[in-house]
Amino acid sequence: MTKGPQLKPWIEAIHAYVPGRSKAGDGRRLVKLSANENPLGTSAAALAARTGAAIPSLYPDPDSTALREALGALHGIDPARIVCGTGSGELLTLAASAFAGQGDEVLYVRYGFSLYEIAARRCGATPVEAPDADYGTDIAALLACVTERTRVVFIANPNNPTGSFLSRAELARLHAGLPGEILLVLDQAYAEYVDPEDDDGGLELAAAHPNVLATRTFAKAYGLAGERVGWATGAPPLIDALNRIRGPFNINTGAQAVATAALADQDFVARSRAHNRTERARFAAAIGALGNHGLRAVPSEANFVLVLFEGALSAAAALEGLAERGYAVRHLPGQGLPQALRITIGTSDQMAEIAATLRDLAEAAR
Ligand SMILES: *Cc1c(COP(=O)(O)O)cnc(C)c1O
Repeated sequence: MTKGPQLKPWIEAIHAYVPGRSKAGDGRRLVKLSANENPLGTSAAALAARTGAAIPSLYPDPDSTALREALGALHGIDPARIVCGTGSGELLTLAASAFAGQGDEVLYVRYGFSLYEIAARRCGATPVEAPDADYGTDIAALLACVTERTRVVFIANPNNPTGSFLSRAELARLHAGLPGEILLVLDQAYAEYVDPEDDDGGLELAAAHPNVLATRTFAKAYGLAGERVGWATGAPPLIDALNRIRGPFNINTGAQAVATAALADQDFVARSRAHNRTERARFAAAIGALGNHGLRAVPSEANFVLVLFEGALSAAAALEGLAERGYAVRHLPGQGLPQALRITIGTSDQMAEIAATLRDLAEAAR
């Protein structure tokens, strides 16, 4: 009697990615502020490009040529230094697989993006978590975790789920402290939400250094989470490595067309950023006013705010209270954050109602 196929132990150690909820426990549909999707929807011009773009019987362009050319033109990058992925998530996973394996270490900060642990384990590498500094990235602590086995370092900037941000100078310092053989993956999923004058210089680092891969996505500020398109840029050997192991037709024809058109509508991106900046500041101030109830907002440069519950009202109780009022937000106890909720910035009305609900709940919990 055979025992059947034996799962690799490093795959067995993976807990599958947990997506944000959109329904209450009783099946009721909730306003979904649990996955950092764009409350303004999608560029109308981008959606119009989808019509007629796809011929279902034909394979898509395997190299996403038009999309890479448009990305190159917008960001001043040689398209040969760009690779597209089925979401940037595909590229993050492939980067770990290309440069790390059994016996190697993949390093990221505590409260980093949950996909990094999956990416590390999937290729048999050992995930290593560096200590944080009050929910932010502690560069010295991260560098102190580098060993001769470290192969890949993941940094999300801004970080998810904390929203914390490393400045251009801090990011350059982090990179300068890493040995050149270690791949630094700069996950810039929320870069478009950062004020342009505060740009972290990640694309420039990827242009200048052979060991930096910067990744971006259409899922957040471009409002195209459902299309599954992301991209990465770096030195030719890095791009070549990802091209060898990515899905050969990883971006479908419609998604290539929609993403290419979305790049031409920078007005939509600017409106998304402006809406987010205003509503995030207002919401963070509303949480700040609940400090006497033990609520605290971690300073965020992204399109969400991590709210800490350090008083009588627990995050778990707030999660339920918000669900009763019709809102799904993100509770991440599995990531060591039972004391926090990550709340995506929605419309103005939604944020006002959430702030008022949290105030009511905090006052009732006293
Ligand atoms: C949302 C997100 C991504 C993007 O994932 P896609 O696969 O492009 O949808 C990548 N990194 C972080 C930190 C994110 O929050």
